[in-house]
Amino acid sequence: MMEENSQTLLNEVRLVGVAASPGCVVAPVVVFSQDNKIIRRRKIKPEDISNEMELFELALGKTRQEILEIKEKLEQDLPDQDAAIFDAHLLVLEDPTIIEAVKAQLEEKLLGVDYIYQQTTKSFIKQLRQIEDEFLSERAADIQDVSRRVLRHLQGRSGLSFQLDVPSIIVAHDLTPSDTAQLDRKMVLGFATEGGSRTSHTAIIARSLDIPAVVSLKQVLNQIESGIEVLLDGHEGLLILNPSEETKRISGQIEGKRLEVDQRLTSLREVSATTTDLKKITVSANVGLEADISMMLENGAEGVGLYRTEFLYINREGFPSEEEQYQNYRAVAHAALPHSVIIRTLDLGGDKFISNNEGFIPEQNPFLGWRGIRFCLTERAIFKIQLRAICRASIEGNVKIMFPMVSDIDEYRRARSLLEEVKRELRAEGVPIADKMEVGVMIEVPSAAMTAEFYAREANFLSIGTNDLIQYTLAVDRVNEKVAYLYQPTHPSILRLIKQVVDAGHRHNIWVGVCGEMASDIILTPLLLGLGVDELSLGAGNIPRIKKAIQTLSFEETQKMVAEWMDWYKAEDIMRALEDYAKSLYPDLL
Ligand code: PEP
Ligand code: MG
Repeated sequence: MMEENSQTLLNEVRLVGVAASPGCVVAPVVVFSQDNKIIRRRKIKPEDISNEMELFELALGKTRQEILEIKEKLEQDLPDQDAAIFDAHLLVLEDPTIIEAVKAQLEEKLLGVDYIYQQTTKSFIKQLRQIEDEFLSERAADIQDVSRRVLRHLQGRSGLSFQLDVPSIIVAHDLTPSDTAQLDRKMVLGFATEGGSRTSHTAIIARSLDIPAVVSLKQVLNQIESGIEVLLDGHEGLLILNPSEETKRISGQIEGKRLEVDQRLTSLREVSATTTDLKKITVSANVGLEADISMMLENGAEGVGLYRTEFLYINREGFPSEEEQYQNYRAVAHAALPHSVIIRTLDLGGDKFISNNEGFIPEQNPFLGWRGIRFCLTERAIFKIQLRAICRASIEGNVKIMFPMVSDIDEYRRARSLLEEVKRELRAEGVPIADKMEVGVMIEVPSAAMTAEFYAREANFLSIGTNDLIQYTLAVDRVNEKVAYLYQPTHPSILRLIKQVVDAGHRHNIWVGVCGEMASDIILTPLLLGLGVDELSLGAGNIPRIKKAIQTLSFEETQKMVAEWMDWYKAEDIMRALEDYAKSLYPDLL
């Protein structure tokens, strides 16, 4: 069965997903199992067989123990429930047919026992599913469940702590933002996932790390196995299995042209983004990982418009200390001089959690739950440590602060008064801090956008987080690929909200920026300019292109066009008009 499978895989197969991080790479694939653990085709020697069998027996023993414990707990907690399913699982676990097949395959193929076990159970499952019978299809589900448990024990690892032998492309059902942040750039040339979207934090981190990525590739795991060659195109959102020589040649040529354009654009590093009619737009960088800082300097960012501090908190034991945060914020602020750095306070929750989810109880709707400023205003001790670190770093003279996920003016006022309290305490302790530090609000919840006026009266700037503003306005989960088609940045409601926020800010003489992914989409640049946005903050890699696009635009013309689009009903029509406009003005940048 496995032979037949690899034969069919030799044909070139194109899978279309969503482009999440640019770049084009060709490499062998490594597939993560359902549990995001890697299953490698590890070669072994004949003398290793007994060792592998021992590992296998050990994993079977641990799984047996685990199943018995679950069964016992279920019987105690829910005596009326039928725990017989676990008896069936124990039978599957100890099924001599499977165990014998694994042993035989191990001797014949001389590959690691985890890989062999996975392939063996897969082939049993496939055979059972081919027969239309309810009983057999339940057995297939049992085998799948048990095999996941055994594989987890066989691998005995948590998280993504794995070693790749050769540079590879990872394919998984999904990766969490913290998994992604841990990827080794040298060995992971790119990744593709079945789930996710362009504005998920996983995609945002991939762009920071400059790892090409394609997400939302439906059913990819059913069509792929570790070891085959793939071409991953993070510009077009393609994953091509078994690419032909011709396909590789053509995509290599296109990638070469893109790199040429990038090379030409490096000259824009020191140039400011000014329209043909001399309207100056500030173009700054979104920073989350250390890698972003060097990218930001290389690409000519005019400061940091959004520092996502939560990545300091994930992939570690416990919370970072005040000193550690201070060192980090100060280093970023220093690197950005003479420009400013906007430090966004902790935005945990939603799709970002600390490693062991300490203190977080799983929620039904994490994006609508205990997230961002809501978490910080409850966990005041954790919040105060961060505020102290930011205030201390402000001594560099260019630090600003902003609060995320604000949905009511009271949250902003409470955060601000805590900030004042922290400043007073530091001064009383004789710790040097800047005399003045500007404070801004992220406008990313529709209630805040609709009352932007209130915030504009009290804050020094407003930064629109369109990633969340779109998800909350249109009621579309930003990481759910099933509803991704409804996630429309050009929806008339979004245009109106942005305009409302910009106008409110300008009435009170403060600047308004956009730091969501809309700012990095070159098709949308004329729209944001026409809506009157003063600053764009985006992943550093795209800064030269966006600067170039701004230089080709007339502010007056974008304003006229936007005034017309404001009356259009359909997001698609506005998007199409924008695409045509971008093609006519800067085709080589697309
Ligand atoms: C946003 O919501 O647009 C934003 C910039 O914040 P994040 O993507 O980190 O939620
Ligand atoms: Mg946000």
